Amino acid sequence: MGLLYLGTPLTWDEAKQYADHVREHGITQFLYTWDRVKDRWGDELLWGDEVEYMVVTFDDKEKNAKLSLRQTEILAKLSQVVGDLTDDDTPALMTVPTFHPEYGRYMLESTPGSPYTGSIPDLLSVETNMHYRRTLAKRHLKANEIPFTFTSFPRLGTHGIFTEPHFSSDDAKSSHSLFLPDEITNPHARFPTLTANIRSRRGSKVAINLPIFIDEKTPRPFVDPTIPWQRSIYQEDPEAKNGAALIDHIYLDAMGFGMGCCCLQLTFQSCNVDEARRMYDALIPVGPIMLALTAASPAWRGYLADVDCRWNVIAGSVDDRTPEERGLRPSKDNYTIPKSRYDSVDLYIANNWTNKPEYNDAPVPYNKGIFQRLRNHGIDEILAKHVAHLFIRDPLVIFSETINQDDTTSNDHFENIQSTNWQTLRFKPPPPNSPIGWRVEFRSMEVQMTDFENAAFAVFIVLLSRAILAFNLNFYIPISKVDQNMARAQKRDAARSGKFYFRKDVLPPGHDTLTISPLSCSGSSSPVEGAPAKEKLLRNCFPPVPRPSCVADGPIEDEYEEMTVEEIFVGKGSKFPGLLGVVEAYIDTLDVDEEDRLQINKYLDLVRRRAIGTDIIFFLFRCALTSVLGSLQTPATWIRNFVRSHPSYNRDSVVSQEINYDLMVAVDEIERGVRRVPELLPEDYTPTNGYHSKPNSP
Ligand code: ADP
Ligand code: MG
Ligand code: MG
Ligand code: MG
Repeated sequence: MGLLYLGTPLTWDEAKQYADHVREHGITQFLYTWDRVKDRWGDELLWGDEVEYMVVTFDDKEKNAKLSLRQTEILAKLSQVVGDLTDDDTPALMTVPTFHPEYGRYMLESTPGSPYTGSIPDLLSVETNMHYRRTLAKRHLKANEIPFTFTSFPRLGTHGIFTEPHFSSDDAKSSHSLFLPDEITNPHARFPTLTANIRSRRGSKVAINLPIFIDEKTPRPFVDPTIPWQRSIYQEDPEAKNGAALIDHIYLDAMGFGMGCCCLQLTFQSCNVDEARRMYDALIPVGPIMLALTAASPAWRGYLADVDCRWNVIAGSVDDRTPEERGLRPSKDNYTIPKSRYDSVDLYIANNWTNKPEYNDAPVPYNKGIFQRLRNHGIDEILAKHVAHLFIRDPLVIFSETINQDDTTSNDHFENIQSTNWQTLRFKPPPPNSPIGWRVEFRSMEVQMTDFENAAFAVFIVLLSRAILAFNLNFYIPISKVDQNMARAQKRDAARSGKFYFRKDVLPPGHDTLTISPLSCSGSSSPVEGAPAKEKLLRNCFPPVPRPSCVADGPIEDEYEEMTVEEIFVGKGSKFPGLLGVVEAYIDTLDVDEEDRLQINKYLDLVRRRAIGTDIIFFLFRCALTSVLGSLQTPATWIRNFVRSHPSYNRDSVVSQEINYDLMVAVDEIERGVRRVPELLPEDYTPTNGYHSKPNSP
């Protein structure tokens, strides 16, 4: 989330009159940016993570774990604390971190104070960096408050008391929710306005229905007794009984249920715009797979759900499409929009022969006028379509003071639309007046309970992104298959029992092995005769493979098949070494000393153990029986098992206040390393294992 502008927000009726104005000037701003940076070349790899927290307050007497609504005070305190720090006060290799507000009034976000470079010491500082941020936040909370990196709060929106202080949902002025008070939302004008304007544009409250997890004693049919079916305060109150709330489902009716979830995001800077477009495309099919592997949200509004992930909840929670756009009512031009503004990517955008038109097989409505304007300005067809697709959306929050901007220096109108298209990947153009280059953001992962896990997934994805570029890997599958994978990824236990479409041959044409591309600029570490010198840095600027004179172009249906998560990570067949296989091969091209390699292996081992289905493998090695550590659970599986084995669980899918309290106590103990959970974390996990490698010798 960018800086929050303070001003007077327009209601939906006022704002919609400026929708075309914002779109028109947003495109003008994009074109100024494009002219300025389209030829920008040579930016180094800089990258960073975003970690989100929910602050929980413990009432030990009542055995209640509640969301603490003190975001404003906590952020003020943290900004004062970090303002007083200097880089010398932080652990080695670290700059003073930044804390940001988020949608929920119980949420925080943290980022490293400055992005990581491609050095190995920076790669290995991620866990310590995250741990430092957590410690800093923890130190400045009340004694009974703890920041959790936890994806969805199991008791959000329940009948009981789930916030501190408590507020009634009878006064939910912006969401009109039956369950969530307005006070759950960040008080900055942007957030209640966003909430209210989504509801107004849509013409009803948002409606999300998660299938309930059917346990032995779950009542059938399940008609939720905790829904205030008869409430009549707001005009939308009858929606639940008139069909919005489905039987056998957990019904959620407000933006807070989705945007109140926490996630882990990563942003990478690219060499140039074309490399950013290749990276964006390559990570699209990886999005659902990483969602399945990081699944961490099985409990919603006091019930266990039959899903493990947050994604569809957020998609539904900001779905501002009108009934006509959703295809529920006929419209004069039969114009429909297939997806919410929060959903998986609709369009591959690389301007490269490997991106075959057949891969873009999903419907992509786009704004024809904007498309033509971009084309007239010389922007290629596919990028023009990408931007014109984002710009089918209306701006949701407009401040009266910023309607008129200097388009040559501002990108506010562009960002208004761009940053409220929340897709699995975001293609981020360089902002004006800043040294930042073209970036790609990877957004599908759920946040994990420990910094070790969050660092492991961050390290894995940055290494994978380099392996993709270095070996010129091709991950394309039809985007409709990525959509199917997205749906499959969220199902209960998808990481273990799900199957996903993935590409069978990821190597460039004519290659049987992984071969690194030389630097695309002349100079420094160009390949020499024989084995290329090992590189000291994770870097950018890998040239794409040129189109070979003859490519055997079979039907694209032959290019992919269904695989288990294990196969996707450890490999299948001779042309797909697996995501871990390509990462390992990439690390072998780097100059990494033994100690650093051991630490990287710990992260890759977590990824491997999440992905594989076998428990402990025993094998004979040098005449001794040796074991390889086996499968680890996703957080979602672990949370579900915790609830189901709690002594007070009635096998009725209910996550009671007491179970939730014990769960949050357990998660805190796990994070601190005082409670051992070998089914979830490596046996030697401790929160202070974070390791610093020595800076590379020059
Ligand atoms: P948003 O909320 O818009 O996605 P944030 O500012 O919260 O963005 O986070 C952006 C992330 O990008 C941070 O981790 C930051 O360290 C990182 N970052 C900053 N500058 C660059 C850069 N030039 N290239 C890549 N990443 C960067
Ligand atoms: Mg965020
Ligand atoms: Mg952010
Ligand atoms: Mg982000």
